[in-house]
Amino acid sequence: MACLTMGHIVLGQKVAVPFEVGTWKSFKPAAVSYTFDDNCTNQLAVGVPMFDKLGFKLTLFTTTAWAPNWAGLQAAANNGHEIASHTITHPSLDSIDDAKQAAEYEGAKKIINSKIVGHSCYTIAYPFCIPGNRKLCSNYYVAARGCNGYVEASTPADFMNVQAVICGTEGEVTTLPQFNSKVDWATKIKGWCVFMMHSIDNDGGYSPVKATELNAHLEYVYANRDKFWVETFGNVARYIKERDAVSLAVISTDSKKIVIQLTDSLDNSIYNYPVSIRRPLPEGWANASVKQGKVKLNSQLVMQNSIQYIQFDAVPNAGTVVIAKAKKVKSLDSVIK
Ligand SMILES: [Zn+2]
Repeated sequence: MACLTMGHIVLGQKVAVPFEVGTWKSFKPAAVSYTFDDNCTNQLAVGVPMFDKLGFKLTLFTTTAWAPNWAGLQAAANNGHEIASHTITHPSLDSIDDAKQAAEYEGAKKIINSKIVGHSCYTIAYPFCIPGNRKLCSNYYVAARGCNGYVEASTPADFMNVQAVICGTEGEVTTLPQFNSKVDWATKIKGWCVFMMHSIDNDGGYSPVKATELNAHLEYVYANRDKFWVETFGNVARYIKERDAVSLAVISTDSKKIVIQLTDSLDNSIYNYPVSIRRPLPEGWANASVKQGKVKLNSQLVMQNSIQYIQFDAVPNAGTVVIAKAKKVKSLDSVIK
């Protein structure tokens, strides 16, 4: 058993060699999340279409008493964006007692879950980036966003205060080079870059970012999408917790198939996001197909450092995974990225 992933040791994770679990989805070097607070109008009018154009997903931290555009948020949720909590009334959480805090945590989550169909609220952003009782907050949310301005490591020190970079006129990131330098830094530390935004252009909200700069930055990230895993705040948080908790055991192996089990002790109703796994393609195999239970998983052959890997995404505790020897594909080029 080895406890190594991409060169760092993760407590709890037990992965049988030669398997590896990706620090980030598809073994990309960095994760990037774009988060927007306070229901500023242009988030839905300008932001969501800009992200949709490139297939990227963002997180909208909504303050439920501030007249959210629920139909607009529902449409965004239907398209894979995260609708999350920014409390009910936007209080400074450190200045109210536990009972009032609990009412804000629980209430906002309940309202979002009742208004937005087919979606779950998992995360919160603290109003003014000020945490209250973090332990209490963790009863309701898998992760909470602060804004101390730095790019997080591959596992944040405190899931109930994940740091973000403040964007816009009140922050440190307003221009294309500033946006790009943050995500580039994330690739150097194999980290998680979370951006905090409010207003876009002239919608009257706090700390506007220019749509032109944000759009140019997103196009840079898209052009370099082999380096950047863009995902919602909640999905990245769930991925990290699963990746750090997962056990991968080999059940059996013969010349035609390898059977593995992927397990963790997390709550399956929340932690059901697929994690990326790979191992070198066994000698003498031209290709492989991968199934979990009865479901065929997306898998691909990937060449890295002259090693050919079979790589796939599977959900912990969702059934036995069978990696089966398969015929050579017609054009190998089409499956090597
Ligand atoms: Zn706010």
